[in-house]
Amino acid sequence: MPMLDVKKIREDFPLLSREVYGKPLVYLDNAATSQKPQCVVQAIADGYTHLNANVHRGVHRISQEATEAYEEARRQVQHFLHAASEREIIFTRGTTESINLVAHSFGKAFLHDGDEIILSEMEHHANIVPWQLLQSYTDLKLHVIPIDDRGVLDMEAYRAAFNEKTRLVSLTHVSNVLGTVNPIREIIDIAHRHEVPVLLDGAQGVLHCAVDVQALDVDFYVFSAHKLYGPTGLGVLYGKERWLEAMPPYQGGGEMIGHVTFAKTTFNELPFKFEAGTPNYIGAIAFAKALAYVSDLGLENIAAHEQDLLQYTTRLLTEQVEGLRIFGNAPEKGAILSFLVRDIHPYDMGMLLDKLGFALRSGHHCAQPLMDRFNITGTLRASFALYNTREECEAFVAAVKRVAQMF
Ligand code: PMP
Repeated sequence: MPMLDVKKIREDFPLLSREVYGKPLVYLDNAATSQKPQCVVQAIADGYTHLNANVHRGVHRISQEATEAYEEARRQVQHFLHAASEREIIFTRGTTESINLVAHSFGKAFLHDGDEIILSEMEHHANIVPWQLLQSYTDLKLHVIPIDDRGVLDMEAYRAAFNEKTRLVSLTHVSNVLGTVNPIREIIDIAHRHEVPVLLDGAQGVLHCAVDVQALDVDFYVFSAHKLYGPTGLGVLYGKERWLEAMPPYQGGGEMIGHVTFAKTTFNELPFKFEAGTPNYIGAIAFAKALAYVSDLGLENIAAHEQDLLQYTTRLLTEQVEGLRIFGNAPEKGAILSFLVRDIHPYDMGMLLDKLGFALRSGHHCAQPLMDRFNITGTLRASFALYNTREECEAFVAAVKRVAQMF
């Protein structure tokens, strides 16, 4: 059974006691971004109040302290992912930038005309468009693996997708729309049998379970801090050292250089080679607090609590709402619930639910090809976090019922 003291946890998130339109806020848009515990907010304030000096540059005291705290944050991320070395942890702006970095840099080093990349029908635009941008200068083929009506990846099609031109598999760990948890261990094993590296988009997956990049033997794993109770504008690219060493820099500028002359520039070592310019060091320092926060609560406890909310809400909605269609019925799901009621437009329903205090997402969720797959333009999406309660789920189901009756 769930082991979280949710009532106490909620006190750490002052935003949750806000009202909207005179109604208590029920925040169910966690897959878009999670709220921040006070320790993270405080770390940002403390960082700018006491620790603000540019990192890796000054010999002066504050710069050294900021650098130490920033590098300690990197080690915490390394520890969190169980990466072999801190050289394998690159701080970026988010999942989107991490994938663009790999597309650009891995692309330059390893992709040539006629090569193929394996994606799936359930990818977020962040794992589609960067590869399409590459297509404007390399004749790449995107091999898209289909899914079935439950939202489960077709593993037969995946197995059959490899050929001598396949250079990379780039798949989501957990779908941000369907909640599907992909069988990443099997996905990686199959790819490696063909000597093909694997990138996992962990934007939703890193929340779902403890990720051990060494045990998985994954080549690249990417995620955003803001969905993991950390600040916006910060993300992580984990990459195996041997790949990162072989890849050219993504952006040029300060930090990433060894020595610059107008004739030739040498590059800094990992991870700095990929961190051009002033990084979001205050964000990284605050993110370390978010990691400590979730680690203290226990990732398994958080996942168990979220699963309870997912299953409870799914059951209540199914029992109580006529004309309900759930998108995503995979046997293993993250805490994401996409649905439609009859032919009511998700925006209309989302707007009315908002007026009742319920924050959830309506639209295509940056996954238009997936919407096409189901022949719809969008869904409503409720997504649960560690601070949500069963009472909120009950109120949510009652509100969906009430709103649906208005149409
Ligand atoms: N991939 C997935 C699966 C996501 O859910 C998201 C965020 N919705 C992204 C990528 C993009 O993340 P970000 O906007 O933080 O870069």
